[in-house]
Order: sequence, then structure tokens, then C-alpha cells
Amino acid sequence: DKVRIRTALLSVSDKTGIVGLARALHEKGVRLVSTGGTHKALSDAGLPVSDVSELTGFPEVMDGRVKTLHPGVHGGLLAIRDDAEHVAAMEKHGIAAIDLAVINLYPFEEVRAKGGDYPTTVENIDIGGPAMIRASAKNHAYVTIVTDPADYAPLLEEIADGTTHYAFRQKMAAKAYARTAAYDAAISNWFADALDTPMPRHRVIGGVLKEEMRYGENPHQKAGFYVTGENRPGVATAALLQGKQLSYNNINDTDAAFELVAEFLPEKAPACAIIKHANPCGVATAPSLAEAYRRALACDSTSAFGGIIALNQELDAETADEIVKLFTEVIIAPSVSDEAKAIIARKPNLRLLATGGLPDPRVPGLSAKTVAGGLLVQTRDNGMVEDLELKVVTKRAPTAQELEDMKFAFKVAKHVKSNAIVYAKDGQTAGIGAGQMSRVDSARIAAIKAEEAAKALGLAEPLTRGSAVASEAFLPFADGLLSAIAAGATAVIQPGGSMRDEEVIAAANEHNVAMVFTGMRHFRH
Ligand code: 5GP
Repeated sequence: DKVRIRTALLSVSDKTGIVGLARALHEKGVRLVSTGGTHKALSDAGLPVSDVSELTGFPEVMDGRVKTLHPGVHGGLLAIRDDAEHVAAMEKHGIAAIDLAVINLYPFEEVRAKGGDYPTTVENIDIGGPAMIRASAKNHAYVTIVTDPADYAPLLEEIADGTTHYAFRQKMAAKAYARTAAYDAAISNWFADALDTPMPRHRVIGGVLKEEMRYGENPHQKAGFYVTGENRPGVATAALLQGKQLSYNNINDTDAAFELVAEFLPEKAPACAIIKHANPCGVATAPSLAEAYRRALACDSTSAFGGIIALNQELDAETADEIVKLFTEVIIAPSVSDEAKAIIARKPNLRLLATGGLPDPRVPGLSAKTVAGGLLVQTRDNGMVEDLELKVVTKRAPTAQELEDMKFAFKVAKHVKSNAIVYAKDGQTAGIGAGQMSRVDSARIAAIKAEEAAKALGLAEPLTRGSAVASEAFLPFADGLLSAIAAGATAVIQPGGSMRDEEVIAAANEHNVAMVFTGMRHFRH
């Protein structure tokens, strides 16, 4: 299964490591053939290299749109070496066999990520490169295809004796098709975005492997992080300033944390969200970031242990000082001050991520989950309570403070697994009930958590007294409302739309509670 490498075709946009590789190949007696820019890089380095036009008898034309799309190249890549007819065709038409192709593509993804204008982005759709990659990979019985500079070193190891094994060529071919598929997926997604249709039929759902994790949700599961190239500040593109690689669960929770905190405009107030198992265990806004952290922590300091902390603005020294007092897994923030970095450095295992900005909660984007045999895809829940027409349905209208607390609670509830009940007061969560199969259980659990928090803080009464309560979906019966009233809520925000709305409104009126309907539901499963 060994194939000797005699001729290599090198055509790369990312020229990282190409001269070193070409030199090593040359020293092994491999003939080098190259396209315009790559040819120049190699000959500038003093290497003997032929131009691809020597294979095609045709110059590069149309600004490089057509350089390798020619039987002289594709015949050399696709010919079955021990097929008499193929060999005869090669001889008749003067086609030389190509044994190794080293190709990487026009940087379409980078140009897209930088927000390149339409014509520039179109011009960065590589045509000849993917054609050669796919041809070489198809013919992996004879041809070695390398598409990633990270594989140059393994390639050189492989060809120490001048040949490659089938297993190596097969592995490289598999990688090559993953590359061209991801490339075309990026193009299709760019088109879909350009057409401003978030869920068109003509969009491929796909991503590129960014990293493999040590394990998945559990140690016996394998896992990888695939990135879609969506231009959204967050865990996929953040810089890891310190700490170990993020685990599968870290990435999942960190994403939940950052998407939640991004709902709070930094110019309005500093905000902090603490997440455990993708649910918030405390969220707060406050005049200072450190105070927001302390208030978020106060909601459920027991659960916050080993949690993920997300901040809507630069992590400062004061907040960092507070955070290091407790065991935390991950901090994610738009940026981190130098002083804060030094403080966090005292906890070398604490993972610190800087995203460079906040994601826009109004941008739809896509979210996906797997089911057996498929992917369920939807636009992201980008509904914002500020954009909704809130309808007061009770005799008593909410006070200005109640209205603020209601909106705050509803925003948080959007990020809590259903059934979600969130109590809030003065810009901080007082109690959160998540993920119960019955809404009234979520309401009870949230109230119990609030009582425990009050005990832990030595407060006379839980923060739910005089709070606003949010339900992310309609209250189907009066029981959930009564349970919230028993916990001390004076204002309620919910989508409305239940068959029993009248019953629920009557119960609210009876207790002089103010209630508003949002008309929008925020299920989260
Ligand atoms: P170079 O810098 O060597 O001039 O160009 C290398 C790039 O051109 C590679 O990214 C390769 O995929 C791409 N390429 C090679 N042949 C063709 C072709 O025929 N058409 C187009 N559009 N791109 C090509």
C-alpha cells in the first residue's frame, strides 16, 4: 500500500510553513509544481519549482479564477495508476502523475468573519482549490492530499522513506472532504445571511472542528467543539487568558452565562450572571460590577460554588478580588483589566475568557439540537421584553419599580430551563425555580431557595417579599400565582394566553397584585 512521492503540486493561500515543507520535499528528490503566488514564494526561497502552466500548457487567466482547472492537472490527480486505459490516456495527452497535493483554500471564512464587502467575499470563493482537493481525495488509493499546515510535520514523518501508506492517505482524504464540506457550508451560510433569511432552505448546517475535548458531558463520552464561523462574540471565539482548556460542560454553561448577561446593556448598569448546569443561580445589576457580583451570589451562594460567572463589562480589580474568594470554574467578560488579570492569576486553574465584546441579543442567528437521526434547527430566541407591548390585565397597575423588576425577572426567565419561575427585586434575582415538569413546583422551589438565601444572609425576611415574579410561559392555573403571592410577590409578568386567564386575573385582583401580559413565551428546553 506504499506509494512513492515523485511529483508534488503545491497551491496554498495560507503560506505558513510551505517553504520548509517544499525544501524538505526537494531534498527527498520530489519534483515541485506550483501556482502563481506559491511558485513565487518557493522560487524566492531559492527552490527549483515548475509552474503549473507547464502541466497545462495554458497560462493562469482571469485574475487567477482559472489556474488549475485543466485536464493536465486533474488527469494527473485522478488517473488510476494501474489501469491500462488511464495510463494510455496519460501518455497520449502528455499528462504527468501528481502523487502529492498540498492545498489550502482562499480565506473565505476569514474574509466573511471580518465582514468583507459583497464582491470581495465572492472573489474569495475558491474554485480550483476545492476541485483539486476533492479529486486528490477521491484518488487516495494513489494520491496524498494535505489541506492543513498542521499536517506538514506528520507528512514529513510519514514520507521519511519517500512513500506514504494507504492508512495515511485515507485519513488525509477524510480530512480533506471535511474541509471542503465546511468551506461550502460557510459559503452557503454567508449567502443565507446576505439574503437576510435566517431559516432558508438553502443553508447547510455545519461547522469546523475547533478542538477536541478530553471527554463529553460524561467521562465515557467523546466530544468536539465545532464552530460555525458566525460573527458573534462568545465562547467560540473568546481568548482564553488563563486556565486549562474548557470542558464540554464548561463550554455549554459559559455560553448560557454569556448570552444571559448580554441581555443587560453595559451602558445601563453593570450586570453579573452566575450559572450552574446551564441555569442561572443568581443574576444582578448594580451601580458597580463588584456589587452586581455580590448580589448575584447572594441569590444562591450554595449553588454558585464551582459555577460560571459572566459579566457584561470589563472585569475590574475590585470584582476580581471578590470572585477569587470562592471556587469558580470559568469567568467570561468582554475584557479584563491588567490589575484584574494579576488577581485572577493567583488561581491558576480558574479559566478566564475575554470575548472582545457582547453579542447582540436581537440578532437571530441559529440554534440547533440533535434528536435521533436529525438536527432540530431554529432561529435563536431573540425576543426582548423592551420590544414587547406589555398589557396590564389587573385592576392595579404596577408601580415603576415593580415594572422594572418584572422586566428584569422576565429577561432572566428567558434563560432558565422550563418551567421557569423567577422572583426579582431591585435589579437582582431573589429566587429561581428551574426545569420542573410542573410550573407550581418551580414556583415553590424558587420560594424555598429565597428563604434559604435569606437565612444564609441573616435577613429578617426573604427577598421575595415585595418582589416581582416572572413565568416564562403562561400560568395555566391560579395555583402557581397563589404560591407566588404566598412567597410575597406583589407583581406578576407572564405571556398570558391560557384558557383560564380570567381565573388567574381574578386571583391576582383578589390579592391586589399587579399583572402584565407580554404576549411572548420563552420556552427553553
Ligand atoms: P497562489 O497564491 O499559489 O497563486 O494561489 C493559491 C490558491 O489558489 C490556493 O488557495 C488554491 O486553492 C487556489 N487555486 C488553485 N487553482 C485555482 C483555480 O483554478 N481557480 C481558483 N479560483 N483558485 C485556484
